[in-house]
Amino acid sequence: MYCVKCGVELADSETKCPLCGTPVFHPDIPRPVADPPFPTEKQLRPEEVNRSGALFVLTVLFLIPAVISLLCDWRINGRTVWSGYVAFSLALLYLIVILPLWFRSPNPVVFLPIDFAAICLFLLYVNCKTGGHWFLSFAFPVTGAIGLLVCAQAALLRYVRRGQLFIFGGSFLLLGGLMVLIEFLLNVTFKFHTTFFWSFYPFASCAIIGVMLLIIAICRPLRESLHRKFFV
Ligand SMILES: [Zn+2]
Repeated sequence: MYCVKCGVELADSETKCPLCGTPVFHPDIPRPVADPPFPTEKQLRPEEVNRSGALFVLTVLFLIPAVISLLCDWRINGRTVWSGYVAFSLALLYLIVILPLWFRSPNPVVFLPIDFAAICLFLLYVNCKTGGHWFLSFAFPVTGAIGLLVCAQAALLRYVRRGQLFIFGGSFLLLGGLMVLIEFLLNVTFKFHTTFFWSFYPFASCAIIGVMLLIIAICRPLRESLHRKFFV
Protein backbone atom coordinates (compact mmCIF):
# COMPACT_ATOMS: atom_id res chain seq x y z
CA MET A 1 0.00 0.00 0.00
CA TYR A 2 1.30 3.45 -0.96
CA CYS A 3 0.27 7.00 -0.10
CA VAL A 4 -2.00 8.44 -2.80
CA LYS A 5 -0.40 11.85 -2.44
CA CYS A 6 3.35 11.41 -1.90
CA GLY A 7 3.82 7.76 -2.81
CA VAL A 8 5.58 6.65 0.37
CA GLU A 9 5.14 2.97 1.25
CA LEU A 10 2.74 2.50 4.18
CA ALA A 11 2.62 -0.15 6.87
CA ASP A 12 -0.73 -1.92 7.38
CA SER A 13 -1.09 -0.27 10.78
CA GLU A 14 -1.10 3.28 9.36
CA THR A 15 -4.45 5.04 8.97
CA LYS A 16 -2.82 8.16 7.51
CA CYS A 17 0.50 8.83 5.78
CA PRO A 18 3.24 9.50 8.39
CA LEU A 19 4.96 11.85 5.93
CA CYS A 20 2.22 14.09 4.51
CA GLY A 21 -0.79 13.26 6.71
CA THR A 22 -3.08 12.17 3.87
CA PRO A 23 -5.64 9.52 4.99
CA VAL A 24 -4.83 6.08 3.59
CA PHE A 25 -7.31 5.28 0.84
CA HIS A 26 -7.78 2.84 -2.00
CA PRO A 27 -11.27 2.30 -3.52
CA ASP A 28 -10.78 -1.41 -4.36
CA ILE A 29 -8.48 -2.91 -1.74
CA PRO A 30 -10.08 -3.56 1.67
CA ARG A 31 -7.49 -2.61 4.29
CA PRO A 32 -6.52 -5.18 6.91
CA VAL A 33 -5.96 -3.48 10.24
CA ALA A 34 -2.73 -4.61 11.92
CA ASP A 35 -1.09 -3.80 15.23
CA PRO A 36 1.46 -0.95 15.00
CA PRO A 37 5.08 -2.20 14.96
CA PHE A 38 6.01 0.06 17.90
CA PRO A 39 4.43 0.50 21.37
CA THR A 40 1.91 3.36 21.43
CA GLU A 41 2.39 4.42 25.07
CA LYS A 42 5.16 6.93 25.73
CA GLN A 43 7.97 5.33 27.70
CA LEU A 44 10.86 6.88 29.62
CA ARG A 45 14.15 6.32 27.88
CA PRO A 46 16.37 4.00 29.97
CA GLU A 47 19.26 6.47 30.31
CA GLU A 48 16.95 9.06 31.91
CA VAL A 49 15.94 6.59 34.60
CA ASN A 50 19.52 5.45 35.21
CA ARG A 51 20.76 9.05 35.40
CA SER A 52 18.41 10.28 38.11
CA GLY A 53 18.92 7.03 40.04
CA ALA A 54 22.70 7.43 39.93
CA LEU A 55 22.42 11.10 40.92
CA PHE A 56 20.24 10.18 43.91
CA VAL A 57 22.85 7.64 45.08
CA LEU A 58 25.63 10.23 44.60
CA THR A 59 23.65 12.77 46.66
CA VAL A 60 23.34 10.28 49.51
CA LEU A 61 27.06 9.44 49.24
CA PHE A 62 27.83 13.15 49.65
CA LEU A 63 25.48 13.48 52.63
CA ILE A 64 26.91 10.54 54.62
CA PRO A 65 30.47 11.90 55.26
CA ALA A 66 29.09 15.41 55.91
CA VAL A 67 26.60 14.21 58.52
CA ILE A 68 29.05 11.72 60.11
CA SER A 69 31.79 14.34 60.53
CA LEU A 70 29.34 16.90 61.97
CA LEU A 71 28.10 14.27 64.46
CA CYS A 72 31.65 13.15 65.36
CA ASP A 73 32.83 16.69 65.90
CA TRP A 74 29.79 17.56 67.99
CA ARG A 75 30.20 14.38 70.08
CA ILE A 76 33.93 14.98 70.76
CA ASN A 77 34.08 18.79 71.05
CA GLY A 78 30.50 19.78 71.76
CA ARG A 79 30.62 22.27 68.87
CA THR A 80 31.88 22.41 65.26
CA VAL A 81 35.67 22.72 65.33
CA TRP A 82 36.76 21.02 62.11
CA SER A 83 33.63 19.42 60.67
CA GLY A 84 32.45 22.73 59.20
CA TYR A 85 35.29 22.59 56.68
CA VAL A 86 34.36 19.03 55.68
CA ALA A 87 30.65 19.81 55.32
CA PHE A 88 31.27 23.11 53.53
CA SER A 89 33.80 21.58 51.09
CA LEU A 90 31.46 18.69 50.29
CA ALA A 91 28.57 21.12 49.74
CA LEU A 92 30.78 23.21 47.45
CA LEU A 93 31.92 20.16 45.45
CA TYR A 94 28.32 18.99 45.16
CA LEU A 95 27.12 22.40 44.01
CA ILE A 96 29.81 22.70 41.34
CA VAL A 97 30.00 19.13 40.02
CA ILE A 98 26.77 17.25 40.76
CA LEU A 99 24.00 19.88 40.82
CA PRO A 100 24.26 20.82 37.09
CA LEU A 101 23.97 17.11 36.19
CA TRP A 102 20.38 17.13 37.49
CA PHE A 103 19.44 19.34 34.55
CA ARG A 104 19.20 18.12 30.98
CA SER A 105 21.15 21.05 29.50
CA PRO A 106 22.57 23.13 32.39
CA ASN A 107 23.08 26.78 31.49
CA PRO A 108 26.61 27.88 32.53
CA VAL A 109 25.44 31.52 32.65
CA VAL A 110 23.18 30.53 35.57
CA PHE A 111 25.48 28.05 37.33
CA LEU A 112 28.84 29.87 37.12
CA PRO A 113 27.76 32.94 39.18
CA ILE A 114 26.24 30.59 41.79
CA ASP A 115 29.51 28.61 41.91
CA PHE A 116 31.65 31.71 42.38
CA ALA A 117 29.31 33.11 45.05
CA ALA A 118 29.55 29.77 46.89
CA ILE A 119 33.37 29.77 46.63
CA CYS A 120 33.36 33.31 48.10
CA LEU A 121 31.15 32.17 50.99
CA PHE A 122 33.45 29.20 51.66
CA LEU A 123 36.53 31.45 51.74
CA LEU A 124 34.70 33.86 54.06
CA TYR A 125 33.89 30.94 56.36
CA VAL A 126 37.54 29.78 56.41
CA ASN A 127 38.70 33.37 56.99
CA CYS A 128 36.35 33.88 59.96
CA LYS A 129 37.02 30.42 61.40
CA THR A 130 40.81 30.88 61.31
CA GLY A 131 40.69 34.53 62.39
CA GLY A 132 42.33 35.62 59.14
CA HIS A 133 42.46 39.11 57.74
CA TRP A 134 42.78 38.19 54.07
CA PHE A 135 39.18 37.84 52.90
CA LEU A 136 38.18 41.43 52.16
CA SER A 137 41.54 42.59 50.83
CA PHE A 138 42.51 39.48 48.85
CA ALA A 139 40.12 36.52 48.51
CA PHE A 140 36.97 38.51 47.78
CA PRO A 141 38.37 40.81 45.05
CA VAL A 142 40.36 37.99 43.36
CA THR A 143 37.43 35.53 43.37
CA GLY A 144 35.09 38.31 42.26
CA ALA A 145 37.36 39.39 39.39
CA ILE A 146 37.93 35.82 38.15
CA GLY A 147 34.19 35.14 38.53
CA LEU A 148 33.25 38.24 36.52
CA LEU A 149 35.74 37.35 33.78
CA VAL A 150 34.62 33.71 33.52
CA CYS A 151 30.88 34.56 33.68
CA ALA A 152 31.18 37.35 31.10
CA GLN A 153 33.08 35.05 28.74
CA ALA A 154 30.55 32.23 29.19
CA ALA A 155 27.63 34.61 28.56
CA LEU A 156 29.25 36.13 25.46
CA LEU A 157 30.17 32.75 23.99
CA ARG A 158 26.66 31.45 24.62
CA TYR A 159 24.60 34.40 23.39
CA VAL A 160 26.83 36.10 20.79
CA ARG A 161 27.07 34.00 17.66
CA ARG A 162 30.01 35.76 16.05
CA GLY A 163 33.27 37.38 17.12
CA GLN A 164 34.74 34.54 19.21
CA LEU A 165 38.24 35.82 18.40
CA PHE A 166 37.36 39.25 19.87
CA ILE A 167 35.97 37.56 22.99
CA PHE A 168 39.06 35.39 23.51
CA GLY A 169 41.44 38.24 22.69
CA GLY A 170 39.73 40.52 25.20
CA SER A 171 39.74 37.73 27.79
CA PHE A 172 43.50 37.26 27.45
CA LEU A 173 44.11 41.00 27.91
CA LEU A 174 41.90 41.04 31.03
CA LEU A 175 43.60 37.87 32.32
CA GLY A 176 46.96 39.63 32.06
CA GLY A 177 45.56 42.58 34.01
CA LEU A 178 44.18 40.14 36.59
CA MET A 179 47.69 38.77 37.24
CA VAL A 180 48.93 42.28 38.06
CA LEU A 181 45.89 42.81 40.32
CA ILE A 182 46.58 39.52 42.13
CA GLU A 183 50.21 40.46 42.83
CA PHE A 184 49.12 43.92 43.97
CA LEU A 185 46.55 42.47 46.40
CA LEU A 186 49.05 39.84 47.62
CA ASN A 187 51.56 42.62 48.38
CA VAL A 188 48.89 44.72 50.12
CA THR A 189 47.53 41.82 52.18
CA PHE A 190 50.59 39.72 52.99
CA LYS A 191 53.38 42.32 52.53
CA PHE A 192 55.51 40.00 50.33
CA HIS A 193 57.24 42.72 48.31
CA THR A 194 56.94 46.47 48.10
CA THR A 195 56.96 46.45 44.30
CA PHE A 196 55.76 44.26 41.44
CA PHE A 197 57.97 41.20 41.17
CA TRP A 198 56.55 38.41 38.97
CA SER A 199 53.24 39.55 37.49
CA PHE A 200 54.85 41.30 34.50
CA TYR A 201 55.76 37.95 32.92
CA PRO A 202 52.23 36.47 32.76
CA PHE A 203 50.89 39.95 31.94
CA ALA A 204 53.25 40.27 28.94
CA SER A 205 52.46 36.76 27.65
CA CYS A 206 48.69 37.27 28.01
CA ALA A 207 48.86 40.72 26.42
CA ILE A 208 50.84 39.41 23.40
CA ILE A 209 48.41 36.50 22.85
CA GLY A 210 45.41 38.84 23.31
CA VAL A 211 46.74 41.41 20.84
CA MET A 212 47.57 38.63 18.35
CA LEU A 213 44.00 37.27 18.54
CA LEU A 214 42.57 40.79 18.11
CA ILE A 215 44.78 41.41 15.05
CA ILE A 216 43.66 38.09 13.55
CA ALA A 217 40.04 39.06 14.31
CA ILE A 218 40.37 42.49 12.67
CA CYS A 219 42.49 41.52 9.64
CA ARG A 220 40.23 39.55 7.33
CA PRO A 221 42.86 38.23 4.81
CA LEU A 222 45.06 36.99 7.66
CA ARG A 223 42.06 35.25 9.26
CA GLU A 224 41.09 33.56 6.03
CA SER A 225 44.62 32.38 5.23
CA LEU A 226 44.89 30.91 8.77
CA HIS A 227 41.49 29.31 8.34
CA ARG A 228 42.61 27.61 5.12
CA LYS A 229 45.95 26.58 6.61
CA PHE A 230 44.82 25.19 9.98
CA PHE A 231 41.06 24.62 9.50
CA VAL A 232 40.29 26.75 12.56
ZN1 LIG B 1 1.97 10.80 1.88
